[in-house]
Amino acid sequence: MRVVFIGPPGSGKGTQAKLLQERLGFEYIGTGDILRAAVIQQTDTGKQAAPYLAQGSLVPDQLVNEIVAERFHRGPPCPRFVMDGYPRTVAQAIAFDKILAGVKLPLDAVIHFVIDENEVVKRLSGRGRSDDDANTVRARLRIFEDTIRDLLDHYRRQGLLHDLHAVDTVDSLYAKITALLPKTSSV
Ligand code: AMP
Repeated sequence: MRVVFIGPPGSGKGTQAKLLQERLGFEYIGTGDILRAAVIQQTDTGKQAAPYLAQGSLVPDQLVNEIVAERFHRGPPCPRFVMDGYPRTVAQAIAFDKILAGVKLPLDAVIHFVIDENEVVKRLSGRGRSDDDANTVRARLRIFEDTIRDLLDHYRRQGLLHDLHAVDTVDSLYAKITALLPKTSSV
């Protein structure tokens, strides 16, 4: 089972991705987490990415694609994974298709967390991360809206896209996601 979660910040996709990791042993691959760790460790990647994270803008595609390629080429690829926050652009999706084709691990499903902007702002104002102040949240939402349509089209054309109404309890969302996975999985 290999799945991509797409949704705005605050849509609950990170929580659900981590539940798949804890309960079903999926490998969790979150580019936000990887980038934040790189910034703290002050690696070359971290130094390049830091200004983008601080502003809430997207890190350049090439940098993020390299991070993900490195993850998939590092060792034996994990046959079960959930992507949280990647791909975020069509260029990233195309690069990711190539990475996955190279390791013979095609995706089973792409889940789009559908949520109203007002609900997102309400949720994020309580989260307390340094890029969660109101202006940065709004910047991240604008970017998300601008890039999402083409990204969703990319996966819709591949027949992988599922819309999920994301204003729901954690348990109910989890049940809906796991109900979706076996039907679409070849593993
Ligand atoms: P997230 O934790 O997914 O909300 O990501 C936090 C921040 O990391 C974003 O606001 C971006 O600056 C950066 N980031 C994470 N994933 C990506 C990605 N796939 N492409 C570009 N920037 C990203």
